[in-house]
Amino acid sequence: MVLDRAERRRKDEAWLRERLEDPRSRVVTASQDGVALHDERLLRGPVPQTMRRGEAEPILLGLERDAALFACDAPPDARVISLRDAGARLAGPEGGLAAYAVALLNWHRRHRFCANCGRGTLVIEAGYARRCPQCGAHHFPRLDPVVIMLVEHGARVLLGRHSGWPRGRFSALAGYVAPGEGVEEAVVREVLEESGIVAYAPRFIASQPWPFPSSLMLGFHARSDGGTPTAGDGELEEVRWFSAEELRRARARGSDGGEHGLHLPPSIAIARFLIERWLEETETRTSAGM
Ligand SMILES: [Zn+2]
Repeated sequence: MVLDRAERRRKDEAWLRERLEDPRSRVVTASQDGVALHDERLLRGPVPQTMRRGEAEPILLGLERDAALFACDAPPDARVISLRDAGARLAGPEGGLAAYAVALLNWHRRHRFCANCGRGTLVIEAGYARRCPQCGAHHFPRLDPVVIMLVEHGARVLLGRHSGWPRGRFSALAGYVAPGEGVEEAVVREVLEESGIVAYAPRFIASQPWPFPSSLMLGFHARSDGGTPTAGDGELEEVRWFSAEELRRARARGSDGGEHGLHLPPSIAIARFLIERWLEETETRTSAGM
């Protein structure tokens, strides 16, 4: 993201007031699940009077070429598009910025009251924390780590589908990391729970913020000795092995490939990234005769 989060200046109240008054400062607006766009970028409007007057909380995203960029709740009549649709339309850094704004605003919406004593809390650090005026507790934005993994055996990978998904859609297995658990342990446990397959050698590949409402997706590759998968824990409707050839055919058909057959996760999803990366690897291995 090409944005300076201004970690060192956030606690400086005078500096923050200057940013609110600075005519170069801008604000992006977001609802619970969507952002306002202008062409192929996030809409950057002037700082609203309510924020300048202190009636709306000053949530600072950071500095963009020295100009402050704030985030505020979209008014009820604002035209917003969902983050999933925006992700497909926005170039890399803008997509990341949209996820950041939605995640931060969602956290503030859900943490207006102190989890310790129940009193209403106040924004501090220009939106990076909240403080309780009664018991003094500080509350910081939290993330829920989710592991998502492509499990490989031979030249096949394990994918599953939820019953509510569009017909034919399969994706990598995934689940929340439990308290007291390492991410590698979570990979092994989730695969066993969701499919009955024993996975091992989990290897971290890449991560992706997924603010619905506050997940951090941690993408893994893992190996297994195969076996017949069974959708065990009631979360998945079906789980099975797919060959590289099946995945390539699904990719070639695209998402409009008719009712039948496999549909891959959309390009915005980290699951798709893991699948594409694995396909590339298998191509390299095949052409190297390995
Ligand atoms: Zn409190």
